[in-house]
Amino acid sequence: MDCIFCSIIEKKTESTIVYEDEFVIGIMDLFPATEGHVLVIPKVHSEIVADIDDEYAAKMFKAAKLISIGMRKASIKLEALSFVLSDGKSAGQEIPHAHLHIIPRYQGDGIGFRFGSKRKYSKPELERIAAEIKNNLV
Ligand code: ZN
Repeated sequence: MDCIFCSIIEKKTESTIVYEDEFVIGIMDLFPATEGHVLVIPKVHSEIVADIDDEYAAKMFKAAKLISIGMRKASIKLEALSFVLSDGKSAGQEIPHAHLHIIPRYQGDGIGFRFGSKRKYSKPELERIAAEIKNNLV
């Protein structure tokens, strides 16, 4: 398998590490959206979140929280943060190994994410979709 993130985890590819434990690694993005952009990567190869072992998934967000504290205290003087996880190619995932972006944000930084809702859903429509999701929780 030829996965850049697995290669980074195995230290076969160089990266700039900001955090590392048994479950996850946090590295600086080589092409930061804004200065200080960090990637939090579980140390197990899974393309999508649904396939990540629970403990690794939980540790990914726990590490992200800790890293965000460090980012907020760093000299980059961010105004806010976006936690972005693109779960699949159509969502914009570029590397097929699940990862969470932590991106420093500023007023007018030009980074955007539009939900693009076309209409408000009725209660029965929402109930029908919710029931399908609930029935598939395992
Ligand atoms: Zn991988």
